[in-house]
Amino acid sequence: MIKTATEIDAAVLIEPGAPSPLKQRDTVCDHLFSKREEAEASVAEDSKAVDKLQERLWAERKRALLVVLQGIDTSGKDGTVRGVFNQCGPLGVEVTAFGRPSEQELAHDYLWRVHGATPAKGMIGVFNRSHYEDVLVVKVRKLAPAAAIEQRYEQINAFEKHLCENGVTLLKFMLHISRDEQRQRLQERLDQPDKNWKFNPADLEDRALWDEYEAAYEAMLSRCSTAHAPWRVIPADKKWRRNALVAAIVRKTLEEMAPAYPKPDWRPSDFRVV
Ligand code: AMP
Ligand code: MG
Repeated sequence: MIKTATEIDAAVLIEPGAPSPLKQRDTVCDHLFSKREEAEASVAEDSKAVDKLQERLWAERKRALLVVLQGIDTSGKDGTVRGVFNQCGPLGVEVTAFGRPSEQELAHDYLWRVHGATPAKGMIGVFNRSHYEDVLVVKVRKLAPAAAIEQRYEQINAFEKHLCENGVTLLKFMLHISRDEQRQRLQERLDQPDKNWKFNPADLEDRALWDEYEAAYEAMLSRCSTAHAPWRVIPADKKWRRNALVAAIVRKTLEEMAPAYPKPDWRPSDFRVV
């Protein structure tokens, strides 16, 4: 059975301030899209609608949408970008992947590189990893002093509020997979020659820190799910369901933003193309 975008959203939204125990959240969620064919048909339709809405967003040139994708290794961040935005014209969607900060980036505050990558008015920006790495990997691997990291939750909330008040709508998705699903996906990267390039031995170190990452994600969800920029946790063990859920919410959000074509201040009938 296909759920409406509103029903889907209610199932994945993290209420601001609520505790967010990840172990209690299903990574499969059969009830959201029970059949693969339904999910694939849904994402095909939604991604075409997203393209149409993006064109209006660009024509209007007043607001932007920022889609933040977070999730542990193999959770499907790249696949979500491909699956959801593949119908969009390449001019309208800008994807930024955040890896380990460069020397220059480390010489600035952690939001410096992030603010510079936020979408311009008219654009959809997609972050593959984001400023949240600064309360995730940085916290788990102790790459900054604990007291400094502790201050970042409020700093991030204030930064996102600033973006919202300046025309950027934020959609934050955590792609949630089970430990067993990650094991299978990492094993595939070792077993399949055409996936070997995706394997990084450091991923095994991060996998060994599963509980620490889970706790860091839970802190992020409960402290940074705000009224202006709530988190959504997407059950991501099934790639087709993950894409259908994200596409449905992106489409719904753009429909609610309702970007409009600008009214020209001239009359088409005053002109003649010869
Ligand atoms: P990938 O997404 O596989 O290309 O890997 C990017 C790597 O960069 C991941 O291991 C992230 O944890 C790491 N990374 C991203 N942002 C930061 C950050 N702010 N500080 C340290 N490592 C980061
Ligand atoms: Mg890694």
